[in-house]
Amino acid sequence: MYLHGSSTINEQGHLQIGGCDTLELKEQYGTPLYIMDEQLIRQRCREYMDAFRATGMQFQVAYASKAFCTMAICRIVEEEGLSLDVVSEGELYTALEAGFPAARIHFHGNNKTPDELEMALDAQIGCFVVDNFIELQMLNAIAAEKGLKPAILLRVTPGVEAHTHEFISTGQEDSKFGFDIGNGSAEEAVKQAHQLPHVELLGLHSHIGSQIFEVDGFEVAAQRVADFARQLQQEAGVSFKVINLGGGFGIRYIEEDTPLAAHTYVEAIANAVKQQFAGLEGELPQIWIEPGRSIVGDAGTTLYTIGTSKDIPGVRKYVSVDGGMTDNPRPALYDAKYEALLANRVNDEPSELVSIAGKCCESGDMLIWDIELAEPVAGDLLAVPCTGAYNYSMASNYNRIRRPAVVLVNDGQSDLIVERESFEDITRKDVVPARLRASVTSRS
Ligand SMILES: *Cc1c(COP(=O)(O)O)cnc(C)c1O
Repeated sequence: MYLHGSSTINEQGHLQIGGCDTLELKEQYGTPLYIMDEQLIRQRCREYMDAFRATGMQFQVAYASKAFCTMAICRIVEEEGLSLDVVSEGELYTALEAGFPAARIHFHGNNKTPDELEMALDAQIGCFVVDNFIELQMLNAIAAEKGLKPAILLRVTPGVEAHTHEFISTGQEDSKFGFDIGNGSAEEAVKQAHQLPHVELLGLHSHIGSQIFEVDGFEVAAQRVADFARQLQQEAGVSFKVINLGGGFGIRYIEEDTPLAAHTYVEAIANAVKQQFAGLEGELPQIWIEPGRSIVGDAGTTLYTIGTSKDIPGVRKYVSVDGGMTDNPRPALYDAKYEALLANRVNDEPSELVSIAGKCCESGDMLIWDIELAEPVAGDLLAVPCTGAYNYSMASNYNRIRRPAVVLVNDGQSDLIVERESFEDITRKDVVPARLRASVTSRS
């Protein structure tokens, strides 16, 4: 069993994270519980920052907050010197509430509403990543009304699509995002943006995919974007200060996953950009990247209590936990794979093949198919590592299940960073029209 970050096995054979015994965390906070390893989050941030410092280039590392967006995580990445990507007014609101410096916030998305653009303009965020012509014109118009000139990047699709172990180089990319380089719309967008009086074109952005384990996709994307930038610089005199190559750096969910070190990706990207701009006049552009999953993914562990099981002789044994697709929709959505361990007796030899089921009313609510565990029984604690990214942020109240608490652990200390939802939270937004009220008075 691979133990991530500060996870260890203590003398009682309990899983310990950030110096905190998971059994004690269960006692204090209940289950299901998301546990975030602060030290590992900070380490991941520093790996990217240090790798860029070593290249000698100017850079920004922006945490893609959609992976896990709470006020406490905004504070941590802020302290580590990262910038922050947001994709909605809710994420922007969270960042601003957390006191994240607006100048280091970047706004993404293929359908930013006029309200979102206004809110972000009023907050004077650092940069808009403009996705399409309508947004470009709308941003220019709203900025004109406010007498502002926001910095923008244009999101381009370089015709590279990456999936984990391979990348596909496509001519015309079929994507809802961005301006296509291949069909000339990216060039048109650059020319428009260059002429609009109320936007300042800083550079170009591309994001090729997620959970990527190879550098080739990034290299090809960097080459294509840089090549495109160079061409426009030579032909149209447009200079670009920033090349943003997005996120998507892979992490280890299961033993077989083989992620690369942050510096490997960073060096490959930096070299590709340097090569393309070698011999050109002017300064090298800054490189920006946007890791999400690889900042918080392996820092998260979900702790469940095991409840019932169902043994179907000759078929399989289902073992159920007190959470499921409501706190981790990734297996149901993407067929994502996870490992697990019995946190209250980690050293017991795995002896039984079981499948871990969630408690929702969906046959598809399975967290793990076929995993060897040491005969799990009701009351055992199941820890599922690597749930820091796209778990809490995608959690739902399906079946009116309350969203779990999130605790941040570090050096023997645990702090609640998101409270467990209460029953009142569950009905907080319900409204019973007057004509139906009689039927609910019996409880009050
Ligand atoms: C989702 C996303 C990211 C982060 O992706 P990860 O796989 O979590 O690193 C970065 N940039 C953009 C534009 C994205 O959509």
